[in-house]
Amino acid sequence: MFDARRAFVESLPATCQVCAAWPAQPVCEACIQRYAQPRARCRSCASVLPGEPGLCGACLTRAGAPAVGHCVAAVDYAYPWDGLIARFKFRSEPGWAKPFAQRLLQVPQTLPLLQTQPLVVPIPLTAVRLGERGYNQAWELVKALRTQCRRHPTTPPCETLATALVRLGETPDQHSLGRDARLRNLRGVFAAHPSHAHQLSGRHVLLVDDVTTTGATLHTAAQALLQAGAARVSALVFARTAPSR
Ligand SMILES: [Zn+2]
Ligand SMILES: [Zn+2]
Repeated sequence: MFDARRAFVESLPATCQVCAAWPAQPVCEACIQRYAQPRARCRSCASVLPGEPGLCGACLTRAGAPAVGHCVAAVDYAYPWDGLIARFKFRSEPGWAKPFAQRLLQVPQTLPLLQTQPLVVPIPLTAVRLGERGYNQAWELVKALRTQCRRHPTTPPCETLATALVRLGETPDQHSLGRDARLRNLRGVFAAHPSHAHQLSGRHVLLVDDVTTTGATLHTAAQALLQAGAARVSALVFARTAPSR
């Protein structure tokens, strides 16, 4: 049915959804300058570092090679991005994928990752959650990245695989848990899709997600990809929570 009010609202000039400046992109340049300043981040978990980029204390002391070799995040999970991500995920506004992908491509570390021509793979939702939401926000981000790469002069085409991973179960609310408890909760939650194993073999896989908190989800998904034959795994996330736990 034709919705006159909605049609009217959509015909208005776009305004910045943070400061209401108009006409503007969904987030205007002034707000990007203000809220998306580049940060020195841990190479492995993308937590903010006080000085030069490198590895954070937690990643330095963790035994063994990290499953995610390199993790790039665009912004801190804080105002205004936390509210915009909630709209992206929970209020049926998948269109935020485009401005978020544009921000990700402006992070200096993103382009070198994409230039290695990785297989770009979203963190999946369970079938139940996907049915409820109607879309996987991580896959929306992957598709928006692919579109932006096509337009970008120095980025090779972005090869994507939506169903490389399957999510076998929901995880209980993880908000109050530290990384070790989260890792225990996530055991066995992700598996490489058996029919795509040959596409993962020997590949550099780039995992994409909207938010990372402790990196436990990315780590568990990366382990499943490595077990299925991926040569190495990196990650691209829009927002990283702070501080690292
Ligand atoms: Zn603004
Ligand atoms: Zn770290």
